[in-house]
Amino acid sequence: MHTRFYITFCFLAAAACNMLRAQMPIFGADSLMKHYTQRTQLLLDRSGALGTHYKIDLFGVYIYADAAARAADRPEYRVSWNELPIYKAILAHAPREEARRILLEKGNGPFPPEITKTYYQLGTHSHGDFAPSSTLPLNGLRIALDPGHFAHDSASSRVEDKYLDFKVAGNGPDSVRINFFESQLTWQTATLLAQQLRSAGAEVMFTRQYGTTAFGKTYEQWKKDDYQRTRDSLFILRPDDANLKKLLNPRLANDDRLIFRFVFRDAELRKRAELINAFRPDLTVIIHYNVDETNTDWKRTTPRNYSMAFTGGSFHSGELADSEKRFDFLRLMLTDELINSITFSGAVTRRMESELNVPLATPRDATYLQSSSHATGQPGVYCRNLSLCRLVQGTLVYGETLYQDNAQECKLLMQAAQTPNPGPESRTFQVAMAYYNGILDWAKAQPRE
Ligand SMILES: [Zn+2]
Repeated sequence: MHTRFYITFCFLAAAACNMLRAQMPIFGADSLMKHYTQRTQLLLDRSGALGTHYKIDLFGVYIYADAAARAADRPEYRVSWNELPIYKAILAHAPREEARRILLEKGNGPFPPEITKTYYQLGTHSHGDFAPSSTLPLNGLRIALDPGHFAHDSASSRVEDKYLDFKVAGNGPDSVRINFFESQLTWQTATLLAQQLRSAGAEVMFTRQYGTTAFGKTYEQWKKDDYQRTRDSLFILRPDDANLKKLLNPRLANDDRLIFRFVFRDAELRKRAELINAFRPDLTVIIHYNVDETNTDWKRTTPRNYSMAFTGGSFHSGELADSEKRFDFLRLMLTDELINSITFSGAVTRRMESELNVPLATPRDATYLQSSSHATGQPGVYCRNLSLCRLVQGTLVYGETLYQDNAQECKLLMQAAQTPNPGPESRTFQVAMAYYNGILDWAKAQPRE
């Protein structure tokens, strides 16, 4: 009788203890809660508009599909603080789609034992081959280059609407026809940068080649091979999309601007991100040239001129409506990707300022820097939820150097666009060197093992 009572007592005590443990936060939970709350408020949800989609408390992080799911406490993702190392390892090592699948399958339950075992062993340690030497300061560093846009001639630059074509008034030789497209500039910059990076020991990949899109074919060929299939699969996802419906109208079915804007552009950005992620780079450099947003139509010059760079983050109201974006929100919350990208981008913007002699934009200098971005601790670096900033895994800079339509820059860029092998006097060469020296500065600051 006495023994049976003792066994029953022990069983009940153990059960109570387990219940108690299940309800007790882990050691250090308060500092984890504070850390991730601060990170989210600073980098991901500065305006505080996304509160219905997430909760961070003493037990972990919860992501909700909508307000109803939050009210019923039915999270799409639930991360207990004691699971954090496994989440971080999965997000560091699994390809983005694979990581999303693992996390969705886990849901509110535990990870399957084989997932825990695999990723626990991998940890978050990077297995990069970066081994700098005095002669090869970037030895083994993997760098993805994304030259923005795809046009290879005047006609294709019209499709993507990224060109300048106007006359700068003046007497005799001062009168200049400006006629170039952004894709020429980003391509020149990327190839010049790649030469420098490779000679410093880096391994470099491109998301596209000259004349082709990220699909490895011209836009015209993509339209023949893939347009209808891509449009139809988008229709299945968004049957009520008014813009897609326009493309079913026979009169508009072949309108290149519509096809580009509503079907091609997103699909191709996804392809770029897919190629970059498959390469598993240490750094990604996305190269663009900017224009003055107030100079509508870009048919004349502007006196304004700024450089800036973007990283991911800064989600806005309505931007967590789909499940995939909620996954990336969680990914950027739990990993150090944003912090690393901000540090790296800061190294690049400092060189943009010092080598191009163009000021870095402050939030006052463009409306989108206030409406859809927010400043970081680094000069000229802004969090902005651009597709590539969200879809690319790891450390990145999305550079927007100088205003192409600036009165002096447009003449310099016109010269560069007409030069087959630009040298140090060329503006595209100077921009490439600003990126290169920013990368070198970043590399020098990396801890050596
Ligand atoms: Zn661009």
